[in-house]
Amino acid sequence: MTKPDMSKLASLSPFELKDELIKLASSDADRLMLNAGRGNPNFLATIPRHGFWQLGLFAMRESERSFSYMPEGVGGFPRREGIEERFDLFAREYADVPGVSFLAGAVSYVRDQLGLSAGDFLYEMCEGILACNYPVPDRMLKLSEVIVGQYIRKEMIGSHPFIGEFDLFAVEGGTAAMTYLFNSIRENHLLKAGDTIALGMPIFTPYIEIPELNDFKLVELSIDADPNERWQYSNKELDKLRDPKVKAFFLVNPSNPPSVRMSDESLEYLASIIEERPDLIILTDDVYGTFADNFVSLFAMCPKNTILVYSFSKYFGATGWRLGVIATHRDNVFDEKIAALPDAARKELHERYTSITTEPDKLKFIDRLVADSRTVALNHTAGLSTPQQVQMVLFSLFSLMDTPDSYKAAMKRLIRSRKAALYREIGIAPEADDPNAVDYYTLLDIEALGGKAIGPDFVKWVLSSVEPNELLFHLAEDAGVVLLPGRGFGTRHPSGRVSLANLNESDYAKIGRSIRKLFEEYVDKYNAATGNKANKHVVKK
Ligand SMILES: *Cc1c(COP(=O)(O)O)cnc(C)c1O
Repeated sequence: MTKPDMSKLASLSPFELKDELIKLASSDADRLMLNAGRGNPNFLATIPRHGFWQLGLFAMRESERSFSYMPEGVGGFPRREGIEERFDLFAREYADVPGVSFLAGAVSYVRDQLGLSAGDFLYEMCEGILACNYPVPDRMLKLSEVIVGQYIRKEMIGSHPFIGEFDLFAVEGGTAAMTYLFNSIRENHLLKAGDTIALGMPIFTPYIEIPELNDFKLVELSIDADPNERWQYSNKELDKLRDPKVKAFFLVNPSNPPSVRMSDESLEYLASIIEERPDLIILTDDVYGTFADNFVSLFAMCPKNTILVYSFSKYFGATGWRLGVIATHRDNVFDEKIAALPDAARKELHERYTSITTEPDKLKFIDRLVADSRTVALNHTAGLSTPQQVQMVLFSLFSLMDTPDSYKAAMKRLIRSRKAALYREIGIAPEADDPNAVDYYTLLDIEALGGKAIGPDFVKWVLSSVEPNELLFHLAEDAGVVLLPGRGFGTRHPSGRVSLANLNESDYAKIGRSIRKLFEEYVDKYNAATGNKANKHVVKK
């Protein structure tokens, strides 16, 4: 095995570096590779999926009854009239089949708790799951938007005061949300080349990479979370947002990779900055918000300024479905900024959207996102596929009906016991319980771990004589363990990101033991190089 060229690898994004690590880790056929580099969860929500398949069977009955039996396999559209009664019969006939009682409960929830028409709901769901019409309205199906909106309210706003309404655009996951947003923000002159944007660091790497592309050429300014303050942003860092040169603030909350949510104090402080900076654009990616209790998004705190991105991928174990939403408040700075653009830009945008509306100047930013997502001219066939919207609605209803949040509690138990197994085997106690920790990932920071176990001199030696990625390569080559480098996400210290979502508890124990072994090897090297006699067997609390 040839040693990888460390300097060449240093320029790779963490996701590309991961591929190199996987090559090394899987080079020994007799050994099982343990890939904790992936954010893809190894669990999934079963009940709303059962609901999806049973709804599909009901919708097929609807389709086949509307064209009295044609053996060639031709069905028709479902019929609105009497659909509720026919569903009740179906639900009673198959009451014992998994998913059916969930569906029946969902129909009553929609009718009794949300005050919507059960018949309209069933019709939208049947038409949607049969996928026999283009998505209309294109931004999101009507009742689907109301129901998913309730889910977003519950999980992202909670009991926080919130005035007014917001719109949703259903998209193909957080990935599409990001692509569409960057594109429309540029097309509508909300940001232009040379503008400065602040990034809450460390951050999901594409947020660093996309603005640097030739398409955008934005200037990046870091707002650094402090590892010594449990990865919170200090007021001093947040004060950088007071500079009017900063046009936008992009953040992931709870963060990736440290996996902590912004503290209440920081949220309040940021909200007070926004009072002074009413023009600031905020984009908050709250994909991990649902793993926290009583989560409050910046979207709840500063609704006028904030674009919310949410994905169903992680929480429901549904990365293959490609489900996400973009939310904007009906009263927002994006629409205001577009209306206040210089004449030339307004004229250009008037022309851009003139083919899809008689009043292009009044087209809301969120509807521009929809149009731009299909290069404007294909706006009439825009929108997320309707079966995707149906599954999104069932995920949302599952969470809304789940009181008192037993799915969330199960999810948290799963992740926390994996974390405990990992740290137990490394032999170092994790940080004391942090109420803001979400623990979807954990960052193994060389300075923190080495300092805790051996001391500052050891840390100094490691930082000066070991390439940051060398440790990750050793873990991959010697133990078949793959972690992602924290550096690639913009952490200041060398570190490894362990996803706690995608392996089983015994695997995390094995990873912990491999890290312990590597650690002891480096203590031996340190002792040999410096003549020190550090005890590698110390276990620190
Ligand atoms: C996983 C992830 C995404 C991508 O989500 P998809 O919905 O699967 O496209 C976006 N943002 C963050 C912070 C993520 O961790």
